Amino acid sequence: MAETHSAGAAGAGARDRIARVEVRMVHSHLRSKRAQGVGSVESLVKRVLLRLTTEDGIEGWGEAAPWEVFSGTAEGVAAALDVHLRPLVLGAPAGRIDALMARCERALFAHPEAKAALEMALYDILGKRLGAPVHALLGGAVRMAIPMSFSLANPDTEADVAAAQALIASNGIRIFKVKTGFSTHAEDVRRLTRFRATLPEDIDLRVDYNQGLDPWDAIRTLRDIEAFRPTFIEQPVPRDQRAAMAAITAALDTPVMADESVFSPTEMLEAARLRIADIVSIKLMKSGGIGPARKISAIAEAAGMPCYGGTLFEGGIALTAATHFIAATANVSLGCEFYTPRFAFIEDIAVPKLPVEQGAVMVPEGPGLGIGIDEAALARQTVEVRG
Ligand SMILES: [Mg+2]
Repeated sequence: MAETHSAGAAGAGARDRIARVEVRMVHSHLRSKRAQGVGSVESLVKRVLLRLTTEDGIEGWGEAAPWEVFSGTAEGVAAALDVHLRPLVLGAPAGRIDALMARCERALFAHPEAKAALEMALYDILGKRLGAPVHALLGGAVRMAIPMSFSLANPDTEADVAAAQALIASNGIRIFKVKTGFSTHAEDVRRLTRFRATLPEDIDLRVDYNQGLDPWDAIRTLRDIEAFRPTFIEQPVPRDQRAAMAAITAALDTPVMADESVFSPTEMLEAARLRIADIVSIKLMKSGGIGPARKISAIAEAAGMPCYGGTLFEGGIALTAATHFIAATANVSLGCEFYTPRFAFIEDIAVPKLPVEQGAVMVPEGPGLGIGIDEAALARQTVEVRG
């Protein structure tokens, strides 16, 4: 009886214990080169996929897509999961998600992408065991459609104009985020002028510097950018330049969004206290999973700061987990940028591709994450399997 109690949040006992941990390094190809802020992404994204299998054969999937100039590395994530977290995960009850994640937090510093991958795989298993989608496990959906933003980051502006026009016509996309700060200010102004001249007047344009401006001269630069009526300006200066973020937020009429400056609930608390932004981008790859992401959103909500669903270059497994988080978290009300599975990767591994209807990402309704795995695509993209 004691065994049953210790093992089963879902009452599944020993059958719920994790029997197998498989870590895969995959290489996924993008359709076009992207330039953005402090780092550019060429044609390849390195991802780490995690497959957990319980004693009774339920599989849960996780994904990490780090970006080396932003957080960690794929190699570091693979080592974190394979070497450091595997011993804690093997034999643990899959349904006791928060307890296992707390053990992992004590055992391994940082590595939020690895922890996010593990946590989403555990939610996938629990949802499949209970026959419920992950958002139901989080208290139920407040929305099932999330307005989608597409990022314009091609150094070839005319290619971006064509891509945006095609997305408006074919998928009803109404939100575009222009990546700035990777070239000159004059070039940013030229690109924004071109987007405003060629895209419909009521399109929702947002601007993301990815930390690209010098703190000592950012306000003058951003006053020019405000003329293009962006909905928000994201992370204009480096993450640790919090005084500059606060000064910019106070000086501009346009809302400022913190991305790189807020990874954790503690950083969110500081962001609210120092008012370094008006709004915040939440990414599971930064927070280390849905649990901490919900804490960030709760702190932001208490401070009157709505949140946005950001990404690095995750595919359909990680972004589906994020749709469940946003579905169940009212304060994440500024949309999402979950476009990579459908519009950036040549081939994804989760099936079906994350659905986009009338400009919004649709939250899956099946048990767990509510996705399947294309084993052939997985095999094609796998470069290494551990476990
Ligand atoms: Mg950003």
